[in-house]
Amino acid sequence: MQMIGARVAHRIEVRGTVQGVGFRPFVCRLGRGLGLDGCVRNDGGVVVVEAAGSIEAMRALAARLRTDAPAQARVADVRVSALNGSAPATGTGFRVVRSTRRRPAGTGAEVGLIPPDLGTCDRCLTELFDPGDRRYRYAFLNCTDCGPRATIVDALPYDRVRTTMRRFDMCAACAAEYADPADRRFHAEPIACPACGPRLAWHATDHGPAAGGHGADALAAAEALIRRGGVVALKGLGGYQLVCDATDEAAVARLRIRKHRPAKPFAVMVSGLGAARRLAHVSAAEAALLTSVARPIVLLAPRPERPTAGSVAPGVPRIGLFLPNTPLHHLLLADLARPLVVTSGNVSDEPIAIDDADARRRLAGLADGFLGHDRVIRSRYDDSVARVVAGRPSLVRRARGYSPEPIGLPVAAPEPLLAVGGQLKHTFTVARDGTAIVGPHTGDLEQQATMEAFEANLARLSRVVGVTPRVVAHDLHPGYLSTRYAAALPVRGRIGVQHHHAHVASCAAEHGVTGRYIGVAYDGLGLGDDGTLWGGEVLVADLVSYRRVARFGRAPLPGGAAAVRRPARMALGYLFGGEPLDERSRAAVLRAAAPFLGRLPEREVATVRRMVAQGVNCPVASSAGRLFDAVAALLGLRDDATYEGEAAVALEALAGGHPAAPELPWRLVTRDDLIVYDPTATLLALLEALRDGTDPGLLAAGFHATVAAVTVALCAEVAARERLRTVCLSGGVMQNQSLVETVVAGLSGAGLEPLVNERVPGNDGGISYGQAAVAAARIRMDARG
Ligand SMILES: [Zn+2]
Ligand SMILES: [Zn+2]
Repeated sequence: MQMIGARVAHRIEVRGTVQGVGFRPFVCRLGRGLGLDGCVRNDGGVVVVEAAGSIEAMRALAARLRTDAPAQARVADVRVSALNGSAPATGTGFRVVRSTRRRPAGTGAEVGLIPPDLGTCDRCLTELFDPGDRRYRYAFLNCTDCGPRATIVDALPYDRVRTTMRRFDMCAACAAEYADPADRRFHAEPIACPACGPRLAWHATDHGPAAGGHGADALAAAEALIRRGGVVALKGLGGYQLVCDATDEAAVARLRIRKHRPAKPFAVMVSGLGAARRLAHVSAAEAALLTSVARPIVLLAPRPERPTAGSVAPGVPRIGLFLPNTPLHHLLLADLARPLVVTSGNVSDEPIAIDDADARRRLAGLADGFLGHDRVIRSRYDDSVARVVAGRPSLVRRARGYSPEPIGLPVAAPEPLLAVGGQLKHTFTVARDGTAIVGPHTGDLEQQATMEAFEANLARLSRVVGVTPRVVAHDLHPGYLSTRYAAALPVRGRIGVQHHHAHVASCAAEHGVTGRYIGVAYDGLGLGDDGTLWGGEVLVADLVSYRRVARFGRAPLPGGAAAVRRPARMALGYLFGGEPLDERSRAAVLRAAAPFLGRLPEREVATVRRMVAQGVNCPVASSAGRLFDAVAALLGLRDDATYEGEAAVALEALAGGHPAAPELPWRLVTRDDLIVYDPTATLLALLEALRDGTDPGLLAAGFHATVAAVTVALCAEVAARERLRTVCLSGGVMQNQSLVETVVAGLSGAGLEPLVNERVPGNDGGISYGQAAVAAARIRMDARG
């Protein structure tokens, strides 16, 4: 430490999420308040403070950098060292200086962090609706506490010149606020006002109204169209959205037809908590999630008498609601005073449109007009989806407002790595040391457009955070586009991670579990290490490896993917070819299924029976998700599924009215050293009860209770045998809220410690993070020999 009389001079480096959150303004105010001389700047992804003053004031500075940091900052590390070179002279004051850029990302580089986009803060909201304010009704107002971040950043350090705001020259008034340390917009990089910032623009389509216009006219044109039942393509924060009146049955129906989305529920945006409560039941934890700065879509139990159109979310146990997250959305909701359908701007499974020309082309047939603007969206961030499970927030889709916030890795990655994820609900993860950054949800990686979106997001995010991967982790499935991408990547090493190991590892890793645990992975399908498809698995695992100890009974998928799209066909697979654990009951099951078989086309039944008997195009799967599909079909709910999980979701909804339904018969058998849940007895009881006139809702609930009981029994047995207590529950089937809550309660009651995914989705959106956690642990183990 350098002593200059009673003065000391220090260099302080602050790491974490410290850029784009008002950190430099905070340091500047702090330095001035403590009477220090010096400066603060962004250097690469780090904030560097050089200051001189009394020992006491310098100590206070170092401490308060942590304790008093802005709400959205995450201070990971504060490093104090002596200041080399000349110390700031006494009385020169404290200021923010020009950013510097660290050495390009190489072996010595560190992960740079940018915050996710931040929902409009209360103070900005007050200005938005204050007729006396110069930003009254300005759709792009923001401050150091709120506004766009990840969607507009090109590179670090985070400065206006490295965001898509660089094309807008600040007016004198904005420049003065930006330069004034006492102003709440001091160094707010996306600062803007009606005089100098982005402007709204309206473009009609062929079938929409002819009027064009900018600014207030554009907003008015869009609102008029929505009032008349039209569909507006709105340029949101991380991509285009399609918007219509959620109370207008015809408008919602039109959107469904145009979007080729017959049944999958739409999210609804409401003006505030009061409006949300008119549509759904909102607990305190759910209200906190709705109003959080990330502003996710929150899945809530709907009120039966809700005023939204029936086709908004038909036959589902939960409705997705969210609150406005940008000034533009606040204006729309306030002006229209009704709930709005706000859904991703794409055709079914394509990535959400972000580029104006691309949106104009792809959404022309979907929207009656475009409400756009001239602020470029650099990175695609779809709306996030979350819910509350057993009292705690849990993400279902992680994108805007959450990504690219870092998530810790329990075992640090010794070299920079990329995990390419799975296929459906795709995400990727880049990681280095103890930090993993999960990229935003991009949709199902099954077509060129999604592949391009993945590659663009990956290239940009790796560059921004400075991670150049040397190792790539991927799924075992050779047919996934993500696996093929990994195979072609020029890297030092490749690590294959089994799908369900990745699922349970994602849960273990986010909870910091480094030892052995019981992993329960229930999902649709993933490739197992024995060449069959898995999906109802119990593993004994740690971060490095796993051993399969139990599974669901297998059934053929007649026609492969065709059986996934048609639950009725999947049901035939169970009836004709479900694992013959007990041949005697097979005949009884077929007899009890006579009404179901009689309902289906005779030809289909005969064809499937032949396919199963001959084993033609019938891959087998031990999948929990497929069993839920089959039961939904047997109960007459859905013969076909228009989206993944539709039948299972309908089954959960049907079960909702019967919380105390008794479980159906079930049994566990042993096969090749594995404990196997044989569903034959369950299916037989279900079919016989149905034939005898039992309420299908009671049977749906009974089936849920059965799977929960089976799961608790499997875990209890494995726990006793292996002397384990921690159970990590993951996989897409764990999206089933009533199932997961029953299982969690049952496991707790059995003295075990259940954990569920919270920060990454339990569905395939969390696969990449699980792969990263496993790969990091394996690299570490290999390095130790
Ligand atoms: Zn604000
Ligand atoms: Zn201005």
